[in-house]
Amino acid sequence: ILRYCCRLLDTAPAPAPAAPVTQPQGYDPELWAALQREEFELFYQPRIDLRLGAICGAEALIRWRHPERGLQQPDSFIPACEASGLIVPLGYWIIQEVGRTLPAMQAAGLDGRIGVNLSFRQFQDRQLAPTIERLMQSHRMASHALEFELTETALCSDEEHVRATIDQLSRQGVEFSLDDFGTGYSSFSLLQKLPITTLKIDKSFVAGIPGNADDEEIVRAIINLAHNLNKQVIAEGVETRAQLEFLIRHDCDQVQGYFFSRPVCREQFLTLLSHDHRQQAL
Ligand code: C2E
Ligand code: MG
Ligand code: MG
Ligand code: MG
Repeated sequence: ILRYCCRLLDTAPAPAPAAPVTQPQGYDPELWAALQREEFELFYQPRIDLRLGAICGAEALIRWRHPERGLQQPDSFIPACEASGLIVPLGYWIIQEVGRTLPAMQAAGLDGRIGVNLSFRQFQDRQLAPTIERLMQSHRMASHALEFELTETALCSDEEHVRATIDQLSRQGVEFSLDDFGTGYSSFSLLQKLPITTLKIDKSFVAGIPGNADDEEIVRAIINLAHNLNKQVIAEGVETRAQLEFLIRHDCDQVQGYFFSRPVCREQFLTLLSHDHRQQAL
């Protein structure tokens, strides 16, 4: 898999199939080795559809199972992966992993969608769209089962190329959401120009509801904005019943957060799904 991902990186002609995987210049040797040894792992946090009252998908969140230091959170290594460009091959590995989980998710009874975080640095690979398309084909991923979560920083840089890449994938049926909405610098015109189907309300606003009048107003405004633009809206970081009730009352579409489940390993996610479906059937 790794050799394949590395080959995808080159815009130059592909090396001979037997070429050894050497460490490209600039990558952090420890992180590069971790990728080769398959020490990264995807966790999944369920997304709950508030109308169905059931799990409708998940967000894939990366972890690093360090042999000595234990489970590492993304904030401790994703910035280094972005800075060196290692996020590009790692990003393709992530999509392949999701491709492995989707059939298992369907077998567990859920024809849902998995959200994959896409960082601004991944757009610097000019082959991003065709490579994702190739991965989707080779893993027989239905395009509607994938949603890429973008942050506003991704959209501010080199707008033309980013837009062309998003448009190309969107034409294949892949969806895009705007993550951490309200914390960045995006202008509303981005929402008009780009095929974004979902807004994700940042957890910093959710933390203040109910009770903080400003946060309440911001959350209500984002929900209304999303619906007036025919988009879906997801609240992140839902930790309490009171937050959930506020969001239901204000017609939010989906929620994610510790109140329902922390991000869990693949196996636990699949177990959660089978329980969820058994409850639905009762
Ligand atoms: P994000 O995409 O905004 O992900 C949401 C973060 O909120 C996750 O942190 C999740 O574990 C956390 N979270 C979920 N529910 C709650 C809650 O109820 N309360 C609180 N306090 N937090 C909650 P995590 O997993 O540490 O990921 C942090 C960030 O790292 C992500 O933010 C994303 O920007 C980045 N990241 C994670 N996985 C990937 C990946 O596969 N690729 C890329 N490029 N970035 C990733
Ligand atoms: Mg996200
Ligand atoms: Mg977020
Ligand atoms: Mg974030």
